[in-house]
Amino acid sequence: MAVDVLVIGGGNAALCAALMAREAGASVLLLEASPREWRGGNTQHTRNLRCMHDAPQDVLIDAYSEEEYWQDLLKVTGGLTDEKLARLVIRASSDCRTWMRRHGVRFQPPLSGALHVARTNAFFMGGGKALVNAYYRSAEALGIEVLYDTPVDAIELDDGRFVAARSGARRFAAHACVLAAGGFESNREWLREAWGQDARGDWPADNFLIRGTRFNMGVLLKAMMASGADMIGDPSQSHCVAIDARAPLYDGGICTRIDCVSLGIVMNRDARRFYDEGEDFWPKRYAIWGRLVAQQAGQIAYSIIDAKAIGRFMPPVFPGTRADTLAELAGKLGLCESTFQETVSAYNAACQAGRFDHTILDDCHTSGVTPAKTHWARPIDTPPYTGYALRPGITFTYLGLKVDARAAVHFGGRPSENLFVAGEMMAGNVLGKGYTAGVGMSIGTAFGRIAGTEAAAAKAARHRPDGTGTRLPTPLEATT
Ligand SMILES: Cc1cc2nc3c(=O)[nH]c(=O)nc-3n(C[C@H](O)[C@H](O)[C@H](O)COP(=O)(O)OP(=O)(O)OC[C@H]3O[C@@H](n4cnc5c(N)ncnc54)[C@H](O)[C@@H]3O)c2cc1C
Repeated sequence: MAVDVLVIGGGNAALCAALMAREAGASVLLLEASPREWRGGNTQHTRNLRCMHDAPQDVLIDAYSEEEYWQDLLKVTGGLTDEKLARLVIRASSDCRTWMRRHGVRFQPPLSGALHVARTNAFFMGGGKALVNAYYRSAEALGIEVLYDTPVDAIELDDGRFVAARSGARRFAAHACVLAAGGFESNREWLREAWGQDARGDWPADNFLIRGTRFNMGVLLKAMMASGADMIGDPSQSHCVAIDARAPLYDGGICTRIDCVSLGIVMNRDARRFYDEGEDFWPKRYAIWGRLVAQQAGQIAYSIIDAKAIGRFMPPVFPGTRADTLAELAGKLGLCESTFQETVSAYNAACQAGRFDHTILDDCHTSGVTPAKTHWARPIDTPPYTGYALRPGITFTYLGLKVDARAAVHFGGRPSENLFVAGEMMAGNVLGKGYTAGVGMSIGTAFGRIAGTEAAAAKAARHRPDGTGTRLPTPLEATT
């Protein structure tokens, strides 16, 4: 017998959808590609979600208005965002935590040294792994069936209506379906194709590291594209961070991120600076540095700091390369010593006296050097010096399925009546490019909840004698 709602994926968006559908009275089956011990996709690596609030709320200080959140999003995406859907996500972020708590998620204030986000982001106690475990526990208690080791490889459709999903020889029919199987960031071939070859003849994606799960291969994105679903986003756009070049190929997670960029300078393999390291607060800029490194020769760069920066950022898991002189550091990093010295000297000479304050956009800037460093510019002159080699670390891709406010998958502009999508698979509707910390979980939570509710309602509607039924309330309308 067909289940009411089939959810494909096993991360935040899938779990939110499954829990909402079950709460609406539907029977739910969730298919997760990974084995149980690797369940939770990229969500297991997360730490927080960005929340709008008009006044202090438990772990969140001050206020973060809808307008400020929207302006932040507008700025990082350069306008490549759908305002209606973005505002829906923003508003949903203001009260979703009550529902999350009901399913066992706990919050805590950020640890000192985390990004400057005590005002904007609610941190999960125990991180994303604890969130994932809490949701699975709640799902099991509510009678949601979960099948691990079940990668879906095909979707059967009938004129835009979901009929069944297949995993090898197994077939899963359902009245409605939610796709929440992540982006295609784990698929190195597809990344290679999307990024192509650069002017130097390099294939930049060959040097990318994948920060999260190895299971987000984009199989369903490809399948839906082939079925004529409406797509949104550019396949080469993604959340891409500069991470420690020694990080593992998959699942390095948060501890391989290098967060001292704004405290020092960054050079490419020719020992030349190439971008303003102090352009804006790190949480608003960290997600552009992966792409910047990807554009450099050999897709490698080096973050250089001196002793003044130590203790002002979260140290990564691997110790940096240390040296007592700049010449020694250049040698240890394999960079041309004379160019290295020249770059540091030019930068040091350009630093203007100011009042250093890393918590504000301070007045320490350079003058007469290109590129400029517009904030937190202090000479690199106090040993010991530290360097970290950086590689692009891809977090998630933005190519996705086009949706409306009901999270419906569209075919030729027409919404499917029983096929919905949430999370990374549709994040590109809100994130055309760029990123601001914590918005991935806001998108997945808002649209996961909507998709689950709509999937349960689609089934209910189909089973009314006139086929119309009464729409179930969306999560925004429902009491939390
Ligand atoms: C290191 C790291 C840190 C991050 N930190 C944050 C953070 O603090 N805050 C934030 O907002 N965002 C963060 N993100 C981004 C965040 O992970 C995503 O926005 C969010 O978790 C995506 O949720 P999702 O459910 O769409 O995808 P995922 O959590 O990746 O889940 C996708 C699921 O689909 C499964 N799957 C894939 N293909 C198939 C298939 N064919 N059949 C069945 N199942 C399939 C996968 O196994 C996986 O379980 C981080 C990402 C990484 C990698």
